[in-house]
Amino acid sequence: MKLKDKKNRVLRDLRISVTDRCNYRCIYCMPREVYQKYDYLKHSELLTFEEIGRIVNIFSELGVRKVRLTGGEPLVRKDIEQLISLLAQNPELDLSMTTNGSFPTTRVHSLKDAGLKRLTLSLDSLDEVVYKKMNDVDQSVENAMRWINECEKVGLGPIKINTVIKRGVNEESILPLVERFKGTPYILRFIEFMDVGTTNSWKMDDVVTEKEIIATINSKYPLQPIAPNYSGEVARRYEFADGSGELGVIASVTQAFCGACSRMRLSAHGSLYLCLFANKGTDLRSMIRGGASDEEISLFIQNLWTGRSNRYSEERSEAKTNTDKVEMSFIGG
Ligand code: SF4
Repeated sequence: MKLKDKKNRVLRDLRISVTDRCNYRCIYCMPREVYQKYDYLKHSELLTFEEIGRIVNIFSELGVRKVRLTGGEPLVRKDIEQLISLLAQNPELDLSMTTNGSFPTTRVHSLKDAGLKRLTLSLDSLDEVVYKKMNDVDQSVENAMRWINECEKVGLGPIKINTVIKRGVNEESILPLVERFKGTPYILRFIEFMDVGTTNSWKMDDVVTEKEIIATINSKYPLQPIAPNYSGEVARRYEFADGSGELGVIASVTQAFCGACSRMRLSAHGSLYLCLFANKGTDLRSMIRGGASDEEISLFIQNLWTGRSNRYSEERSEAKTNTDKVEMSFIGG
């Protein structure tokens, strides 16, 4: 099935936040001053794995093929491998996860064995001091690097590496990261600092733009833009002129990509969000716990998507930036 919204965008991706908690305090997502004392969702409020499995089956009937597990930090959710095993029973699904790579590397094996297909690792610097500045926790780059090696060993690669760049904090990390991963199968994706939610004190001045990121790299390692792998791909791709691989930039602030946005998001407490910058979600949990049939839930989702016209990044303005928006840690990136 091809379900189209008001902008003719086909629903293809579902991002599922399995928890609103994280063991990191990234300054661009869950700043400590806000999230240290925070009213997190209670366990009873979370969708169960069975409920998530049922929702995903309904979405896959509607054409969803890519399911990404996020958080907060998805590995904070106990026994997440059980959910992956459940979802992996559907061979049509491309099951992936985004993690901060801070858990023991034994989890790489259990995730792979459970049926995870792809993994994206957040890594904001190779410099321990800068890494801690960005993530505001006493965790080490080394563990994240061990995850990269372990993923390769178990064949969960090539993994993508996401790096958020914030001016004045980690722009000096761009070239060292390029030098570390250039010539390897790993795909670096630099992310412009985004005005997600309302807690990360976002300012345009703190955004290192795609243009600046590419200029920094180009000055030492010439790059050329290449075509997207598929319509709706969030990262703009560049390959090294010397043929030693590629990297990407996710430029939601300066190069909006709403035109082909195919993503819906499900929060850990069972609400659907039509955009990363949405003001509010639509409750699905009470339908599920209220005894609604699969047909009723499917129709509900279809009506939600076909009525969708969100394109926040294309419309971003001073006024919009300051509106009340859902937190990224609540619906996943
Ligand atoms: S801003 Fe919203 S509509 Fe635009 S690409 Fe992001 S999630 Fe999609």
